[in-house]
Amino acid sequence: MSKLEDLARKYAKPAYSAKLTVSDSCTVLESKFGGQPYFEGDSQWTCCTKCNSALFFICQVDIRQCTLASASQHFGLVQFFYCWNCYPWESEQPGWSVVNIPSPEAAKAKPVQMPPQPARGFLSKIFKRNPAQTTQCRIALLPFDSFPQLDDLEQLADNEADFLQSDEIIDEYYGLIEKLSGRSDDYSTMVGGHAEWIQGSPNAKCKTCGQRMELLMQIGSEPEARLMFGDAGAAYIMYCSQHPHDVQLYTQCF
Ligand SMILES: [Zn+2]
Ligand SMILES: [Zn+2]
Repeated sequence: MSKLEDLARKYAKPAYSAKLTVSDSCTVLESKFGGQPYFEGDSQWTCCTKCNSALFFICQVDIRQCTLASASQHFGLVQFFYCWNCYPWESEQPGWSVVNIPSPEAAKAKPVQMPPQPARGFLSKIFKRNPAQTTQCRIALLPFDSFPQLDDLEQLADNEADFLQSDEIIDEYYGLIEKLSGRSDDYSTMVGGHAEWIQGSPNAKCKTCGQRMELLMQIGSEPEARLMFGDAGAAYIMYCSQHPHDVQLYTQCF
């Protein structure tokens, strides 16, 4: 085994890729894009703190089923809501919400309808442009070995990684991890593992303890769900294993 493959395997992490199938018969409990999200107790639909309109429900994933991913120790059903009016690109901006429901049950589920969007402006009425409503898709989660991108590997491996600096290594490395993972960098939805950054790693650090953050979910632009972040972009939800519920959002596109 080459030195490069050794290093790649050392930092491999279990992850799950999401396979989407359009369906109008998803339950409120299951992993899915669009449709009706799960609510329980006195929880209400979250509105955007900037524009006051209801956030759009993007997806929910039952992280408990991703038993090989370390995130499964910290999260239950994770939901992602997003404001298409404000289009936030980073954690600091309002207009997104990640909700963790530790132990959802069908018996506790409560129907909550999305509040209507506020009246729209003159131009959008003329052109009948409506904010994107995600098409409901069932998610199957398929395990695979996830490898860090080269800049993340350099950070992780630090003093073992001097040889990664050479230019020839780039093609060799990405060819190698495509072969080992069976997944090329397609930036589609996945849980756990290493983020597939479109514009390079932001080296996300926890604001509380400074520790390197891990990927909870990468949410790609998914044609089946009619979901698109910018130009074929992706949203990355990062967490700290010491402070798991203080998540950060990054969004990148081509
Ligand atoms: Zn908004
Ligand atoms: Zn932390």
